Amino acid sequence: MKYLSYEYQGSREVGRLDDDGQTIHRLDLSADDAYRGLMSLAEAAARGDTGPGDSGETRALEDVVVKAPFPAPRRNVFCVGKNYYDHAHEFSNSGFDSSAAQGSVPKVPIIFSKVPECVNDPEAPIPVYPDVSTAIDYEAELTIVIGKGGRGISKADALYHVWGYTVINDVTARDLQGSHSQWLIGKSQDGFCPMGPLAVTADEVDLENAGIRTRVNGEQRQDSKLGLLIFDVPTLIETLSRGITLYPGDLIATGTPAGVGIGYKPPKYLKDGDVVEVEVDGIGTLRNTIVYQG
Ligand code: MG
Repeated sequence: MKYLSYEYQGSREVGRLDDDGQTIHRLDLSADDAYRGLMSLAEAAARGDTGPGDSGETRALEDVVVKAPFPAPRRNVFCVGKNYYDHAHEFSNSGFDSSAAQGSVPKVPIIFSKVPECVNDPEAPIPVYPDVSTAIDYEAELTIVIGKGGRGISKADALYHVWGYTVINDVTARDLQGSHSQWLIGKSQDGFCPMGPLAVTADEVDLENAGIRTRVNGEQRQDSKLGLLIFDVPTLIETLSRGITLYPGDLIATGTPAGVGIGYKPPKYLKDGDVVEVEVDGIGTLRNTIVYQG
């Protein structure tokens, strides 16, 4: 199933996208729940409920403004650094990698986070303040949505805890990421987490063969597949949940393949007016424009 959060005639709603790709079946959610995007679906799955049913009303996709599926995550978005072999080499050679002492391919997952308030909509502008940073980069990432939470989840059980997947663009201010050693500030600038356009149930994504790509102004920059992750989805869930209880609706961005701007010589940072498209097969395409402020 494919779900989305959207605005229709000034109201927030949540719906299921029909197989025709054009028709939305509005779900029967309270106004308060609709503002939480798909959170109530993940929570229902965790309880073993079927979740909200169809309201009987339909909307045309072209008549709505699609919003982030999880506009207000309950806490920071967990993120994984250097989790594709090709990108690990590219980043360690960039000179911006404060974790390079570990070697180019990490022995254990590198975990950081983005603050929930930096979540952005699938086609919204990405604001850039040039007095803060002009070294702005993109990172296409498959993102896990947790259904049933837990602590001490084994690899063997991990996929039973996945409600589904969405996509984020892990937008990064490279200079801040490097100068502050810890990555949070460079990763959490306002608007730096475009998310969506859909969130889909786990059966919709082929974790081996689905493609993951980025284009900037139509030029392909990243082109890989999900099966090339260093640490796969079960390993990430086992690692995080060893000492941190996971909750329904928690988000885990799984890392990005090669082809980020910092990997080019000279680096290809995002500039004012650039259109950056990030996509994963089966989930859809984020399409955001860089807009310099001030
Ligand atoms: Mg990333």
